[in-house]
Amino acid sequence: MVTTRWLGIAVGVLFAASTAAQDARTVLRAAADALGVRNVQSIEYTGNGYVAAVGQNFTPDQDWPRFEVINYSRTIDYQNRSSREEYVRRQGAFPARGGGGTPLQGEQPQRFLTAGNFSWNLNSSTPAPLPAEAEIRELDIWLSPHGFLKAALEAADVSAAESTFEGQKVTVISFTAQGKYRVNGEITGDNLVARTQTWIANPVLGDTLFDHRYSNYRDFGGVRFPTLLHSHQGDPQVSGGRNWKEIHVQNVRVNLNPERLTVPDSVRTATIPAVVVESSKLAPGVWRIAGGTHHSVAVEFRDFVAVVEAPLNEARSLAVIAETRRLIPGKPIRYIVNTHHHFDHSGGLRTYVALGATLVTHQANRDFYRNVLLHPARRTLEPDLLSNVVPRFADDREPPIETVNARYVISDGSRTLDLYPVKGLAHAGTALIAYLPKEKILINADLYSPPAPGAQPPAANASFRSLQQTIQSLGLDVERHVGIHGEVASHADFLKIAGGT
Ligand SMILES: [Zn+2]
Ligand SMILES: [Zn+2]
Repeated sequence: MVTTRWLGIAVGVLFAASTAAQDARTVLRAAADALGVRNVQSIEYTGNGYVAAVGQNFTPDQDWPRFEVINYSRTIDYQNRSSREEYVRRQGAFPARGGGGTPLQGEQPQRFLTAGNFSWNLNSSTPAPLPAEAEIRELDIWLSPHGFLKAALEAADVSAAESTFEGQKVTVISFTAQGKYRVNGEITGDNLVARTQTWIANPVLGDTLFDHRYSNYRDFGGVRFPTLLHSHQGDPQVSGGRNWKEIHVQNVRVNLNPERLTVPDSVRTATIPAVVVESSKLAPGVWRIAGGTHHSVAVEFRDFVAVVEAPLNEARSLAVIAETRRLIPGKPIRYIVNTHHHFDHSGGLRTYVALGATLVTHQANRDFYRNVLLHPARRTLEPDLLSNVVPRFADDREPPIETVNARYVISDGSRTLDLYPVKGLAHAGTALIAYLPKEKILINADLYSPPAPGAQPPAANASFRSLQQTIQSLGLDVERHVGIHGEVASHADFLKIAGGT
């Protein structure tokens, strides 16, 4: 009897699952009819709005900094898995606080392209291949209203669940896109796609919510399309960053027979660039470990090493750590110093902490780093050392963070590395500079990036002037500037730029 009852339950569960798939297809077909999906091979929409720089907020509890977007247009060709997105961005009336190009000077044309397995930007006359972006750019096609319905109708693992979204009853349709990404879409009672949602990998946030909300649908010659597109990257319950893009759609046209995007040869042959590590000695026991865009500095103490900056991601950190161990064998990396929280400067921090280093950062980063960046949760999309191998911090799960709100000294009694907060910045409210008083070396990120020898020196901007004021008010005796971006320059070169202010 017991066996029979269990069998009954098992059959019941199977029946519920197949009903859900059946329900899902019924809901999808009704939505596809409502939106005119069958008649859409490609779609072009135009409008205006804003776009924000993910990971570049002023402080970790604030939203991403925004830029005004004009002359927006996007063409999606579903058959060929291609998308061409173009717009002009400018600072507009948005507050000029944060990074990612803030404050934007003048107007910047932007072109983002993807076709099949190839992605590139065309912001100048030369295409910039972005092989690592292709997967997400394709995913974004399947998150558009028509793309979602097309992909869900073809998905083998589609399922349905009832829920509510913004106060109305919806059916949540789920499937796996590209063999990897869980995609959900909310279909309203009147058969419209109200939201599509997935998670994408991010070195700082881990599996990160990525969603598009679609409202104010209108009919454009038999095809329905939303006229308000509002997109998120991030989750306000995790950090302050969330609102990513908003487009107010003015016009929609379908099946214009857009020229198939021709993938430039340089894009077709491009591969994901290797991690570059080029070290040079700045002084005895002080090494600059340069990369393609972001550098680090390793400082040797009597029985440990401190590294300034863990940029980008785990691959970068592992390369810098290997080079540090080669240059300074037999000493543990005890401290990893972080100049500010912007994601391109903090994406590699987890690796150092997983390997036993203490993170030294501005006090304003503490809660975000403790609760988010160093959270020991599983990361399913891009597991790393901290999520996969060392998901604990000693025995008490308290991550090793030292905070700085005034002068902070790392010393072995002989060599000294001083850290100072930089006040009054518009770039970030979490910035530190690192100063080696004996070597008279000052390390900064994003305030002064020394140009290559012979290149045009940068103009003095507000961040530069804040750095200059900090040096003066602290009375630092600086001989050389080492940029986390850029090169190494003399203080005389620095003062030449300052002289112009
Ligand atoms: Zn920055
Ligand atoms: Zn930077």
